[in-house]
Amino acid sequence: MTARPENTHQGRLLRLLRDNGSNSRAQLGDLVDLSRSKLAVEVDRLLETGLVVADGLAPSRGGRRSHNIRLTPTLRFLGVDIGATCVKIGTGIGCGIVAGGAVHRGVTGSAGDIGHIQVEPDGRACVCGNRGCLEAHFSGAALAGDAEQAACEGRSAQLAARLETAGRLTAEDVSAAAAAGDPVALELIREGGMRLGQVIAGLVSFFNPGLVVIGGGVTGLGHTLLASVRTQVYRQSLPLATGNLPIVLGELGPAAGAIGAARLISDHVFSPA
Ligand SMILES: [Zn+2]
Repeated sequence: MTARPENTHQGRLLRLLRDNGSNSRAQLGDLVDLSRSKLAVEVDRLLETGLVVADGLAPSRGGRRSHNIRLTPTLRFLGVDIGATCVKIGTGIGCGIVAGGAVHRGVTGSAGDIGHIQVEPDGRACVCGNRGCLEAHFSGAALAGDAEQAACEGRSAQLAARLETAGRLTAEDVSAAAAAGDPVALELIREGGMRLGQVIAGLVSFFNPGLVVIGGGVTGLGHTLLASVRTQVYRQSLPLATGNLPIVLGELGPAAGAIGAARLISDHVFSPA
């Protein structure tokens, strides 16, 4: 599903349907302040793109009954938020899942906690007590730790200089060093992207999303990370699942969490391309 709304009216309609569920044309018309004829044009276009479907007749408000529309139930998004720091209750990586127009939280609310999926048998010890979790190998905190180690071992003059000034390193330092061309920082991001890509590839095979958005406070990790994730996912997932699958960067701020990621991706999809 790569269809996108064509204009801001359509984007607004999609977000309303996401937030409020099925809605009648009449109600939507009131909410977006469009004339009946203009609304009809936009809704018909959305029906054509397959982003929304008809959903029966609304209760009468007096006069002719209005038709309900809703988001296409098969719409799926997957959002991954890589924490810039480890402030979010020890979670370095979260994942938001939107399916059928709603955020999927799972039976006990922990759906999307992908940080503890194993990426390395017998790998690093994780805070959860297991070994080799994604988050132990790649997250804001893991990245900062790896960078400090590289600095201390004299492998990167840039990271060492930053450590010297600040006393500690963060994921932001790694992205800054990478942006300045530091090979160690670039390699750390590439390696992390590969690990993340391994997990995303599994999710893609399982969930068959229409879009994967990678967000996080560290915008500088951006394109190096994205390239590495893409390579891994396209290599590892079945072509049927990835044939039409955009993997893109979101613009999540550091405060955004996994649920925010899911909302963000649907905002992203529900904005004109
Ligand atoms: Zn763990």
